[in-house]
Amino acid sequence: MTTNRARKDVIRDRMTATGETYNVAARNILAMRHTSQTAEACRVQRWQPPVRLDLPCPCGSTCEPGEKCGRCHALHKHVARNPGSLVDVEVWEDRYECMGCSASYVVPVLLPDSPWGVVEMVPQGGVAEPVAKARLYPGVLHPRMASEVNHDPS
Ligand SMILES: [Zn+2]
Ligand SMILES: [Zn+2]
Repeated sequence: MTTNRARKDVIRDRMTATGETYNVAARNILAMRHTSQTAEACRVQRWQPPVRLDLPCPCGSTCEPGEKCGRCHALHKHVARNPGSLVDVEVWEDRYECMGCSASYVVPVLLPDSPWGVVEMVPQGGVAEPVAKARLYPGVLHPRMASEVNHDPS
């Protein structure tokens, strides 16, 4: 974890180097951090399911071994990893599909170092308290959330 003091030093260094104001420098540093986290989130999501079960899973092998199917007794294979919550950006979910029939299941996974987005406080109208809303990193697909990339009105 970066301490608050270390964070301020980083911002001051940038102000000295670029001549930016404190707020602009802070925003740019945050944007840079988001860029690397965006790349990380895309890496977590974008991979192809393994061809064979004896090969290491391309997700980084951070998944569980697939369970045996109760219907056809074949094994399940890890096929996808998607954001698994609408508000908690550290929660992903792994999808497993049976290699013998159409059975499938999902397992939640917590990846604190690889969030799929950022949580922002969005002001509401009038005197209502702002509400926390998760925003997807660009390029990350959420099965239950409209992607900003697809729904950009401009
Ligand atoms: Zn996997
Ligand atoms: Zn099956």
